Order: sequence, then structure tokens, then C-alpha cells
Amino acid sequence: MSVPDYYKTLGLPRNASDEDIKKAYRKLARKYHPDLNPGNKEAEGRFKEVSEANDVLSDPEKRQNYDQFGDPNGPTHQGGSGFGGFGGFGGGSFEDLFQGFTGGGRPRRAGPKPGEDLQHTVRISFQDAFRGTKLPLNITRTETCRGCQGSGESPAGSRSTCGVCHGRGYLEQGGGFFRSKVECDACGGTGRKAPACPECQGRGRNPKRDSITIAIPSGVEDGTRLRVSGKGESGRRGGGPGDLYIQIQVEPDPRFERKGPNLYLKLPITFAEAALGAKVEVPTPEEPATIKIPPGTQSGSKLRLKGRGMPIPKHADQRGDLFAEIQVVTPILQDERSKELMRELGEINDGNIRENAWRQA
Ligand SMILES: [Zn+2]
Ligand SMILES: [Zn+2]
Repeated sequence: MSVPDYYKTLGLPRNASDEDIKKAYRKLARKYHPDLNPGNKEAEGRFKEVSEANDVLSDPEKRQNYDQFGDPNGPTHQGGSGFGGFGGFGGGSFEDLFQGFTGGGRPRRAGPKPGEDLQHTVRISFQDAFRGTKLPLNITRTETCRGCQGSGESPAGSRSTCGVCHGRGYLEQGGGFFRSKVECDACGGTGRKAPACPECQGRGRNPKRDSITIAIPSGVEDGTRLRVSGKGESGRRGGGPGDLYIQIQVEPDPRFERKGPNLYLKLPITFAEAALGAKVEVPTPEEPATIKIPPGTQSGSKLRLKGRGMPIPKHADQRGDLFAEIQVVTPILQDERSKELMRELGEINDGNIRENAWRQA
């Protein structure tokens, strides 16, 4: 068993003042108090964690021990998170180092363990990313077993020595200097084990199909991760549930290239439109818009349609811009009359266009 991060439990930095600790504890204790959350196992677990954190951090001696040694009981107690990772130092045998940890064979209560986070990927269309959407989602997550309240133990059965760790509460991993201990999962580090709960086969949790609806904000970008709080795996022994993370993939729209909230579009125009100017229709994520091409427009120039890009998430009234990149398409002349006109045009407008391009600075 490792000592929990009490600062994290109270949502405080390690240099928090006594006043900060008092305030944070009061706020969280009110939130998770069993009287205000009747029958809510999760709140009960959180209340216990918060109370434990306050017990340690509001006591100057315990807090100093915890800060210095990772254990409110001080350096002689080897169960702390900063200790006992390696055997073989200080001359004592590996077993000696664990006398404090195993508590002389006395069964201990294992602490609460928060549930794991879950990941899920969804793919949405470009249009849904533009407008935002609500997406129903079926997920399989674990829920605390009702038969045993998450302990994994049969309510009707007496405890005996855990067969996996032979009563020690921990298992050894690796070898030599790098030998380390890990808490025995079978008995939760207590060394004693009751017969498994028949409803969950001792796991303390059961898989459950869950239907949730996620709100995807308009303007969401490919690769965005949304967090759905508390919808991960259930915790153990009163630990809170993990979170569900939704990874969003947005299908591209072949007409647009997206950079943040701005959209880029290639816009081919004719020779005549480029030379004389024109009004042409361009697609946007909504209905098409008209864009004005000024006379003498060159290939590669970008024309901007302000506010016609993607919405900016969390700023629903703001939008990026749409840029149209001009590509002047040179006409391929088939008939004699067109060629004649073009020759004539060329003779009238025979300025030296290369001179400026190559002029040395
Ligand atoms: Zn059970
Ligand atoms: Zn065990």
C-alpha cells in the first residue's frame, strides 16, 4: 500500500498554508459529506480520502513527516511511498525492511484506489464539426459490484490467509538490488482474504453497458480530446471513478484546408476574370458566398472572406476567415479567331514583365 498524495486529494500545492488546508478541507468535506449524499458510495469514499488528508496535513508533525519521508508516521515506518522500493541497503535483510510494512501480520485495511481512465475515439463529419453535435455513445465500463459493495469478498464467508501472497500483503518483483515490492492485488495488501463474491468473482466491479451523450462543440478540431468526468472505470474500496476521454477525429472536407479556425480554398479563375475582374461564387461551410475579384488579380494572391471560416470553440459568436487562393488558368486556344484576338492583345500590352522579376536589388 502506498501513501496517497494528500495535497492532490485537497487540490493544493505542496507549499499550501494552514489556512489553505483548512479552507480546502471544509469545502470538500461539505461537498462529499455522507449526510448530503445518502447512499452515494463514491461520495463516501471521497469524504474518507479528504478526511484522511486533512488529518495528516493539519497536524504539523504528521505533515512534516509526510513532506520529508512520504509517510505521516515518520522514517521508521517503512510503508511510505518514498521508501521500501529497494531491498539490500543498510545491512538489514529484505524481510527486515518489511517488518513495519507488514505490521507484524496484522491484517490492514487497504486504501481506496481511484478507477482507471477510459479512452474512446469518435469520427465525425466536417459538417458536424462545423455545427457542433450531440453524439450518443455506448460504452462498456465497470461499476462497483452491488453484491459486495466493491470489496470483492463474499458477504457470507470468513477470512483466511491470502494464497497469492501467503499473508504478506505484497509481492516481490525483479531481483538483487532492484528487487521491489508491489501490493498484492488479490487481497488488496491486507494478507487476508475472504471467499470471492459470487456476483463479481472477487473483482469488486462488474462490466456495465452505459449510454451517454456527448456534446461536441461547434468548431471542434481534429485531434481534440474531451473529458467526461467520472465516466471511467469505477474505483476500488471507495476510490472515485476515473474519467472518460473522447478523442475526436474530424473527416476532412476535400474543398478546404483547415488551419485553426481559418479555411483555405483553391479558386481557379479564367484569364479574362483575372484581367477584367469578376464576381464568382465560392463554397463555404454553409451556403455559397460571392467573392469579388479585382481587375488585374495574379495567381497565388489570397482573397479573404472575413468570418466565413470555422467557429471558434468556446467563443460561439466568433469565426475564423475563409481564404481563397487564386489560380489563373491559362486558356488553351483551339480556334483561329481566339488566337488572332490573343495575338492582338499581346501586341497592345507588350510591357516587359520579366525585367522587374530579375532586377537586382
Ligand atoms: Zn462483488
Ligand atoms: Zn495477498
